[in-house]
Amino acid sequence: MSHEPPDAGGRRAEQGRHTEFTGGDMFKFRCHEGLECFNRCCRDINIFLSPYDVLRLSRKLGLPTGDFLTRFTIRMQPGKGGFPVVIIKMREDADLQCPFLTPRGCSVYNERPWSCRMAPVEIRGGDRYGFAFDTGHCRGLLEDREWTVAQWMENQGSDKYQQLEIGFRDIPEKLRFTGFPDLDAHIREMFFMACYDLDMFRRYILGGGFQQAFGVDDDTAARLRRDDVALLQYGFTWLAGDFNLRRSLEIRNEVFGR
Ligand code: SF4
Ligand code: SF4
Repeated sequence: MSHEPPDAGGRRAEQGRHTEFTGGDMFKFRCHEGLECFNRCCRDINIFLSPYDVLRLSRKLGLPTGDFLTRFTIRMQPGKGGFPVVIIKMREDADLQCPFLTPRGCSVYNERPWSCRMAPVEIRGGDRYGFAFDTGHCRGLLEDREWTVAQWMENQGSDKYQQLEIGFRDIPEKLRFTGFPDLDAHIREMFFMACYDLDMFRRYILGGGFQQAFGVDDDTAARLRRDDVALLQYGFTWLAGDFNLRRSLEIRNEVFGR
């Protein structure tokens, strides 16, 4: 990665990882096939997948969520007290390409993950944003097209993710670990299943005593049977609100026989 030297006024002359801006500021960027770096950012990189990303990609590829997760992702555990996260498993070729990259570009472009839509913009907390790359890597940062963050997100179709994943961010604050390793492993499994392995979560809530235990009426059950997004949002609400350790264990044993 290159780092641009400060210009004569003591400011840095070009955009790059050093740059920081707010949502109201304009930044310059344009990504297109004519750039020498085209598709360079689709290699050897950690692409985190949100729950909605996993859902969209698995449906695009015609795979049950469990098969998609096994074939295309790595589950990571950030620290002992955190919840699992999911990243794309890069190919094991020389330059560690994303499995969805083809010579013609991204093969899942319309369903590409949220972080691919945001790139090169990086969220740095509060109303602070920056770039994940420098101009030596990402030549699009030298282009003249101007955006605010909101305009960029709308252009990339990433704005609707925030609405669809309302509730997901609340889970770590509301779903507490017990300090007992086996029980905490179960809590992590429930989190992973409800957030990422949606087809398994559907079996879990419709295949045993879940409906009765958590007061799911027949109309809601019918909707959760056919509507993936409703099921995803139900899972967020359940984990952050109605989750009950003992009942969730009993239902797991009942439905999955363990
Ligand atoms: S999903 Fe598409 S845009 Fe994202 S890294 Fe892979 S090939 Fe690139
Ligand atoms: S490195 Fe930057 S400009 Fe080049 S393809 Fe990736 S995002 Fe686009």
